[in-house]
Amino acid sequence: MSQQSRTRAKAGKSRRRQSRSKICHCCGAQAMFCWQCRCGFSMCQSCMYENQWGMTCNGITWECPDCGAQNGYGNQ
Ligand SMILES: [Zn+2]
Ligand SMILES: [Zn+2]
Repeated sequence: MSQQSRTRAKAGKSRRRQSRSKICHCCGAQAMFCWQCRCGFSMCQSCMYENQWGMTCNGITWECPDCGAQNGYGNQ
């Protein structure tokens, strides 16, 4: 119900919607692609690669550090 004043002065890049941008919960960087858990946790590819030794034990699924759910590396 909050009406935000729209500042249309600097409308250079109007792609600041929160729908598509994915923020890595590990490094905090915005990534094009993130592995995502259903709990909302997301991790970028580089972080996943670095932490793969602790995230997965079989290379097929990775365990969410937040909720402990198993997520597949396949299609998201
Ligand atoms: Zn990251
Ligand atoms: Zn999770």
